[in-house]
Amino acid sequence: MKPYQQYLLGLGLAGSLCLPACTTQTNTNTETMTTAQQAQNQISEDVHSYAEPTKAVARHLDLDIAVNFDTKTLSGTASYDIENLAKGNEIIFDTRGLQIEKVYLGDKQEETTFRLGESDKYLGQPLHITIKPETKRVTIVYKTSPDAAALQWLNPQQTAGKKHPFLFTQSQAILARTWIPIQDSPGIRITYSAKVQVPKELLAVMSAENPIEKNATGNYSFEMKQPIPSYLMALSVGDLVFSKVGAQTGIYAEPATIKAAAYEFAEMDKMLVAAEKLYGKYRWDRYDLLVLPPSFPFGGMENPRLTFVTPTVLAKDRSLTSLIAHELAHSWSGNLVTNATWDDFWLNEGFTVYFERRIMEELYGKSYADMLNVLGYQDLQNTLKELGETSEDTRLKLDLEGRDPDEGLTDIAYEKGNFFLQNIEQAVGRQKFDAFLNKYFNTFAFQTTNTDKFLEFLRTELIKGDEALAEKINIEGWVFSPGLPQDHVVPTSERFTKVEESYQAWKNGKPAAQLNTKDWSSHEWLHFIRMLPEQMSQQQLQDLDKAFNLTNSGNSEVLAAWFIHTIRNNYTTADKALETFLTNVGRRKFLVPIYKALAATPEGKKKALAIYAKARPNYHAVSTVTLDEMLK
Ligand SMILES: [Zn+2]
Repeated sequence: MKPYQQYLLGLGLAGSLCLPACTTQTNTNTETMTTAQQAQNQISEDVHSYAEPTKAVARHLDLDIAVNFDTKTLSGTASYDIENLAKGNEIIFDTRGLQIEKVYLGDKQEETTFRLGESDKYLGQPLHITIKPETKRVTIVYKTSPDAAALQWLNPQQTAGKKHPFLFTQSQAILARTWIPIQDSPGIRITYSAKVQVPKELLAVMSAENPIEKNATGNYSFEMKQPIPSYLMALSVGDLVFSKVGAQTGIYAEPATIKAAAYEFAEMDKMLVAAEKLYGKYRWDRYDLLVLPPSFPFGGMENPRLTFVTPTVLAKDRSLTSLIAHELAHSWSGNLVTNATWDDFWLNEGFTVYFERRIMEELYGKSYADMLNVLGYQDLQNTLKELGETSEDTRLKLDLEGRDPDEGLTDIAYEKGNFFLQNIEQAVGRQKFDAFLNKYFNTFAFQTTNTDKFLEFLRTELIKGDEALAEKINIEGWVFSPGLPQDHVVPTSERFTKVEESYQAWKNGKPAAQLNTKDWSSHEWLHFIRMLPEQMSQQQLQDLDKAFNLTNSGNSEVLAAWFIHTIRNNYTTADKALETFLTNVGRRKFLVPIYKALAATPEGKKKALAIYAKARPNYHAVSTVTLDEMLK
């Protein structure tokens, strides 16, 4: 997922939780264990799931659901092929807000008993199902609630086309359980098939093999043959059309958006070629994009075979496509080799940011990737400042027990993770590091990994007892210590040096219109705007706005950075554009700093609340959870 910024919300639960998963007594007598049991035994304990996969685990899901836009619910059955490893009489699934109607065992659909355990705000309720030692199949009849956190139901007005409703899911981190009863831990992989019934005028797509056009019945079938973790379960339903890009790639979007999207992402095939050249074959057959309505809370979500992406990267000049490189890179780091628990999230995101920058370097050269690195470093510095350099949450290996795992999804995992890997690359050389990464992705393909496993691999494959090298790599400093190691390399960018020169000239009185900004990309603009002083005169703001038309920029990154300054300096000329932006865009990365800047003064807060009241229905729960807390 990308990008995801952290703002401390104090969402920690009172007291500590101890879930079944953390008290599970695992069978350590390896002589009596099957290979499957041994494999399951290696699963890290996941404090964010009630499932006990070492006892009974799901292997395959057949989903059969109907999508009802009137009641804002999904209803149907989730049938699982299971393995009863312990031969006990229970299997546990995660649920949150689901209405469980009946549960059947086996192909003959013999009804069985079940019970829902105590409810926790984030984790929901464990669904305990009574099974027999020989049970191989479990069918759960269920319905979602209209406020299921993973589901966003948009009315026609909230779409680009304004004619049809729209639905999309966001399952990461632990929201899959709000739309499917599931063993909702990244350490558990399943294959799946699905039948989805939708209104006839709409098309359904999933993180699976997808149809490319609507049919007359509104019934669609899906298959995902590669095993995936639950957070990659994804569904979207809307007035969607498909446009082919390359032999293996294409784009789904609303008819109103498809043309702009096809132009913006025309280079996705080249990215795929670059990625395969770096780290080996793409293992998911097709790679398509789904461009969502603007309320999508993230930049992108790496749902396998079908990345979900925000329309805020449609900048008309292909300047924000590093996001696509990021989501594509997840096809290796995350989707193929998956973090075992959310405490190991940096293994998904740090690797992906590193890989994303390598793809961009491959396509557009080192000077381009350097800019991304510097911007990433700025984000990291801001996050460190926000969390506090000594905060435990600034370590790569996290401890999120008793908290919403969303709290761990910060720039630490993304950027500190990336800079750690860049540090290793510098220590051993690019060639060696690439060979190591190739081997890593191959060795752990379709498996889960955790921090210890990765570090062990690093020690045996790369460090090999070389103490001088171990010291340079500095595992302790990067992975287990807060903040950044003292001697870390600060990234630089030649192109940004030129931007800084222009900025200085402007600060010294040169009119904005006379600055040489002709060849600037989004990144150069972003760097320039981020540098602007906190306090500016109306005249300075007008000078910039008149020369560069910032208030009316079509580039969401530029706009979001500019609004921070217009808010701080009460530049009311931008107010209308600000309100339009906030009521249309639901991407949390933009919303949070803007609302925060507004809420800094009593007058601004009034403005923020008025806009929020209007805009809130357009935001996904992922965004409103953060903003409700911030603006309460
Ligand atoms: Zn990501």
